[in-house]
Amino acid sequence: MSAGALTLEGRYYDGRRPLPVPATLFVAGRQAVLIGERLTERFARSTLRVSPRVARSNRFIALPNGGQLECADDPRLDLLPQEVPSEGLVAWLEQRVAVTVASIALTAVVLLSGYVYGLPVLAEKVAARVPIETERELGEKTLAWLDEHEWFEASELDEDIRGIVSRGFDELKQGLPTEPHLRLEFRKSFVGPNAFALPGGVVVVTDAMVRAGESPDEVLAVLAHEIGHVEHRHTLRHLVQDSALAVVIATLTADAATLGGAVAGLPVVLARAKYSRDFESEADAYAFELLKERGRSPESFAALMERLSGKREKANQSFLSSHPVTAERVERARAAVDPDAPRVPRAEWPDRDWRGKEDTGECEVPADDGEAAAD
Ligand SMILES: [Zn+2]
Repeated sequence: MSAGALTLEGRYYDGRRPLPVPATLFVAGRQAVLIGERLTERFARSTLRVSPRVARSNRFIALPNGGQLECADDPRLDLLPQEVPSEGLVAWLEQRVAVTVASIALTAVVLLSGYVYGLPVLAEKVAARVPIETERELGEKTLAWLDEHEWFEASELDEDIRGIVSRGFDELKQGLPTEPHLRLEFRKSFVGPNAFALPGGVVVVTDAMVRAGESPDEVLAVLAHEIGHVEHRHTLRHLVQDSALAVVIATLTADAATLGGAVAGLPVVLARAKYSRDFESEADAYAFELLKERGRSPESFAALMERLSGKREKANQSFLSSHPVTAERVERARAAVDPDAPRVPRAEWPDRDWRGKEDTGECEVPADDGEAAAD
């Protein structure tokens, strides 16, 4: 063996796939050969760059093909061309796979320790980093999951009824920042009168909720509340808080597949349907302003909530008493009413018994926690 010849066993990252493969680098004279399974690459010795020694951690040899070989530290590595962190420490750090892994672990630790104190704030920041396309995909997958697992069935509402609600929804969303993303879906569901904002802008309203509305305006008031959740990205933020780790890792690694894995958590989130009071108040406030802007009155929200909570009281007294929030929400809605505001003519349901035999939920308790049937 000539001077400077060395054999290095290590793990080869090709720069495209995240998983390394075992490989051996032979360096002799001015040549270097990398050999692994189905892999033979030749390089000039002068094109190799060895990462600086950091404590006792592994070192990386950057290869001119964009890949790198990770190997144990060896004094003979100092004989090879050394990488100079000339582009600054940060750039150098970013290249290091090991450092990336460590920073994910660190983020996890920060997250877990911040679970009690800082999570809502962090969730907001993380949610803001999730691209809207990813969020939409998440929403579509969630809807498909809910359909598949029979949370939802096809709506049995007459087409003209759905038309009235859909047109009202379209009016509400007009000109909003999320307008291109907002889409209304009708479903029959065992959860009773309810509405959901899925990530990415899909709003689902149950048949029972539409039937519960004495006028279309009441249903639209709930939909305005859901639009508020969409505008504030509440569902995603909530989901991030609930499955914080998966989503943070997905965000860091920009891996939508990992984020998709978080979908499994969403039905649970929806089942509990318990947004924080802050989210509910925020969505309410948004809805009241939106309704007024569109010439509709927040009074319809108050009327519907009152009616639903009356039913609920009959159905489950203790349930309501542990969540005395509805009364506050009704009060806030009434306080938001501006008696002098211009009104569009109130839309009416068709003059026939379209609700059919099915009740609006006499024995069905809205699925959520008393923060009203609108989640
Ligand atoms: Zn809500």
